[in-house]
Amino acid sequence: MWQRPIRHADGDMLEVGAVRVRLTVSHRARRVGLRLDRTRGEVLAIAPSARRLAEAAAFAGKHQAWIAERLADLRPHRPFRPDEALTVFGQTCRLGRMAGRASLEGESWERGARLRGADEAAYGRAVIQLLKETAQAWFEDRCAFHCGALGVPSPKLTIADARSRWGSCTQAYRGRPPSIRLSWRLSLAPAEVADYVAAHECAHLLEANHGPRFWAHVRALVGDERPHRAWLRANGQALHAFGP
Ligand SMILES: [Zn+2]
Repeated sequence: MWQRPIRHADGDMLEVGAVRVRLTVSHRARRVGLRLDRTRGEVLAIAPSARRLAEAAAFAGKHQAWIAERLADLRPHRPFRPDEALTVFGQTCRLGRMAGRASLEGESWERGARLRGADEAAYGRAVIQLLKETAQAWFEDRCAFHCGALGVPSPKLTIADARSRWGSCTQAYRGRPPSIRLSWRLSLAPAEVADYVAAHECAHLLEANHGPRFWAHVRALVGDERPHRAWLRANGQALHAFGP
């Protein structure tokens, strides 16, 4: 992900990876910094004056992981429960639990994972494993499709659990093949939103920036990206609540 330089005002919301940070001028502050506002459930990027808001924004950008972790601590947890229905890449699936195993059942397939522990956290970890496997297969398919359309070889795909971003792309470098990382949490987003993120990262294989040529590739693959980005902004925090 990448942000273009923009002019900032007190109270502006900043997108830092997958989370939102509020830019705030505090005349009591001596330097730029980050603060967790527990009552509002948000992270503030503080600047001692309006003139230094850009500096505070850059500071927030450098501390994505810290911000994502603090927000994860604040967020209500949304544990996985046996027998509940989950919509995975747009398909209604059912979670199961039986004889030391967690299962995820789709319309025409079923995956299972061994439980390592008897508590809710162990169940949650097993479900994440199942969602990661499902995401690996689904995204491999979609990335192969998008890369075919772009005329580039399919990259190595890793399913990750980065709290600060939905996806990332590393272009080929000194003989190392290109690679794409995508979050398993996207499996719980609408399929077209997950597919947009896959297309976004595939387009980075050609353009390592967010310039007009990059967006032209994305639009050729999945059409207008704005509804998908809006969905992630509105629902990203809910996706981050899933898990033990
Ligand atoms: Zn990007």
